[in-house]
Amino acid sequence: CGVIGVVGNNNATEILLSGLKRLEYRGYDSAGIYVNDQHGNDHLIKRVGKIVNLQQAITNEDSGITGIGHTRWATHGKPSQSNAHPHFSQDRRFYLVHNGVINNFAELKAKYLTGVEFQSDTDSEVVVQLVDYFAVTDQVDALTAFRKTLQLLEGSYAFALMDRQEPDKIFIAKNKSPLLIGLAAGYNLICSDALAFLDQTDTFLEIHDGEMGIITKDNVQLTTLDNQPVQRQPYQVQMDA
Ligand code: GLU
Repeated sequence: CGVIGVVGNNNATEILLSGLKRLEYRGYDSAGIYVNDQHGNDHLIKRVGKIVNLQQAITNEDSGITGIGHTRWATHGKPSQSNAHPHFSQDRRFYLVHNGVINNFAELKAKYLTGVEFQSDTDSEVVVQLVDYFAVTDQVDALTAFRKTLQLLEGSYAFALMDRQEPDKIFIAKNKSPLLIGLAAGYNLICSDALAFLDQTDTFLEIHDGEMGIITKDNVQLTTLDNQPVQRQPYQVQMDA
């Protein structure tokens, strides 16, 4: 399974597909991408089975500048197109990919989301519906709603979240599932494994458990879940010939 993302590149769709192919070795049952062209157009494509199935479902229309992608290894809900990621909030404002398991998803769903119509049987969809619920109920921005959601979660996660109202950003968080930031020339990346993007960059930044952040094409802002700033230096991946 794997999580990837690209911020600020006109070839976002192609970069996501090639990154997902390089993560195939991790094992998966379905895959999907969400891309946004930052001019109000966006595309969500998901398929069960191999990345090639996803690739065949994507047309030239499905281009974007910023996007997220996922290969799923089902833990909650059978492998199916509706259970594949990215998942979205009921108003289709927020889109989310998740690797890991949210142990308390049923309690959170019962406490906050009884009025929401769910599209999937996954633990992950509860997270994106919660972000939307807090953004609307508390009238706060995506980062604040995401932070509040993360503070309620028990379990493991690598998350990448997008907000249609701020389509030049990817929001991320990590706890006990792998996630890295890749720094490229004029754009940025996120991935579960540097292998996904060694053709794009050799410069990566670690995210530690309990950290979250915002990535744009030319900036990375990391904090702890209680909003303490995190300073981290990038490192170079050494490539063997
Ligand atoms: N628990 C989530 C699901 O079943 C994510 C699985 C994964 O890590 O791919 O959809």
